[in-house]
Amino acid sequence: MWIDSHCHLNHANIRDLGTPDELIKAAQQVGIDGMMTVCCRISEELDELKAITAANTNVWHTIGTHPHNAGETAEKAFSTDDIIEFTKNYENCIGIGESGLDYYYNNAPRDAQAASFRRHIQACIATGLPLVVHTRDAEEDTIQIMKEENDGTLKAVMHCFSGTDWLADQALEQGWHISFSGIVTFKKTLELQEIAKRVPMDKMLVETDAPYLAPTPYRGKTNQPAYVAHTGQFIADLKNLTEKEVAKATSENFLTLFDKVELV
Ligand SMILES: [Zn+2]
Repeated sequence: MWIDSHCHLNHANIRDLGTPDELIKAAQQVGIDGMMTVCCRISEELDELKAITAANTNVWHTIGTHPHNAGETAEKAFSTDDIIEFTKNYENCIGIGESGLDYYYNNAPRDAQAASFRRHIQACIATGLPLVVHTRDAEEDTIQIMKEENDGTLKAVMHCFSGTDWLADQALEQGWHISFSGIVTFKKTLELQEIAKRVPMDKMLVETDAPYLAPTPYRGKTNQPAYVAHTGQFIADLKNLTEKEVAKATSENFLTLFDKVELV
């Protein structure tokens, strides 16, 4: 059994592969038994995510504003309390995010990204739900904000990890999880593969981040949750483990981190 810890089933770019229900079925047929579909815009996606997760077993969602969207008026309107309230009203909402800082694209002003990130962290601490972190070219500020807001109870996963040794060490020191996507399977990501080798098995998750970043041998194509085992198999080879061992560990880690989940 595998769990895809991060995908976007309602993303416009995934529609050519099928409806969310069809993508979930395709994944289940190849042994992907659970997945979390991640929110990027609170103002638009919650009803859709609620419908997808209500219609399917072992499919859950988050609530949050992607850093790309953090400057939008509709997203800025959601306070920490609003986010907390939403988590109570959406029974399949098991985490908060994705939120964080993206200084590579800078699609939103940095101060708006930071303010949104802080609200998400505060909501995590108030609810006990884990944070799904997106960080790109912003490692130091990301860690600084997380440390400033953390009261010692913050649970988090650094999603689609593509950072430095320093970031991996910072996350592991705080007890946070690290999730690997198809990027780790790409030929030239040798440094990332070295990091994957040393991340302890009890802190590792796997994800597709579908529709983006399909793992080898699907690189360049539209990604889907059914492909997550390719990333898992690659990590198993890196760490001299069996595919089964990686599947078991990453699924257990997901259930430990996202502890609101009740696996059916
Ligand atoms: Zn994502």
